[in-house]
Amino acid sequence: LVSREMKAEDTIIKFDDDLIGGKSLQIIAGPCSVESYNQTFEIAHELKEMGIIFFRAGAFKPRSSPYTFQGLKEKGLEILADIKSKLSLKIVTEVMNSNTLPSIAEVADIIQIGARNMQNYSLLEEAGSLHKPIFLKRGMSATVEDLLLSAEYIAAQNNFNIILCERGIRTFEISTRNTLDLNAVPVLKQLTHLSVFVDPSHGVGIWDKVSPMALAAISCGADGLMVEVHNDPANALSDGYQSLTPKTFKKLLNKISQLAPIV
Ligand code: PEP
Ligand code: MN
Repeated sequence: LVSREMKAEDTIIKFDDDLIGGKSLQIIAGPCSVESYNQTFEIAHELKEMGIIFFRAGAFKPRSSPYTFQGLKEKGLEILADIKSKLSLKIVTEVMNSNTLPSIAEVADIIQIGARNMQNYSLLEEAGSLHKPIFLKRGMSATVEDLLLSAEYIAAQNNFNIILCERGIRTFEISTRNTLDLNAVPVLKQLTHLSVFVDPSHGVGIWDKVSPMALAAISCGADGLMVEVHNDPANALSDGYQSLTPKTFKKLLNKISQLAPIV
């Protein structure tokens, strides 16, 4: 269902006046986690002023260690709902299991399914059946074909509002957090009509390498980016080391605008 053979033209997802896919380049930005109302509002406000439409922040966090911050959960969703209505941003947030899917779907304009859940097929079906846009991140050990087959589970629910995201894969290389597989971008663009995003933040995992990889992602044909931005990376409760500050993110946006217009 998601192949180019089934449909030659790019799938475009419409959000009022804003589009994902086709000729639009969209940047989804925000902190890894909702940590507090003030932290989230401050970042969201700065991003809104820079023209960002899609704001990301996790309320439920799939952390590698159970002893680290797990997200504010329902309280985090309340914060996101409040900020959404105050700043009229579109919200992207992750669902980890079907129990929390209804409450997440109330707040999220785009439901994120993370790398660790890419092959949670029952979650893909349940989330897909809500017919809301799904941001599907590639599993860290998943092939391009695995990713497309996971997208197929969502499409089988008659939901074609799917955005694929390359976020780095596990390789023998340990000088970066993951190995951002930009090969996947032109490969996916050829195989599927779905839009293809890149998350250079998790892909490289080191903040000062994020901007070069973001620019590379756009240059090789990505339809958009997901970038982690935090107002105080040194004290972030998750993924501070890979987060851009609003100031460095603004510099990245300026460089991007020289590559292609942001619609
Ligand atoms: C995230 O986007 O913060 C996240 C947990 O990403 P991934 O699922 O790609 O690890
Ligand atoms: Mn993160």
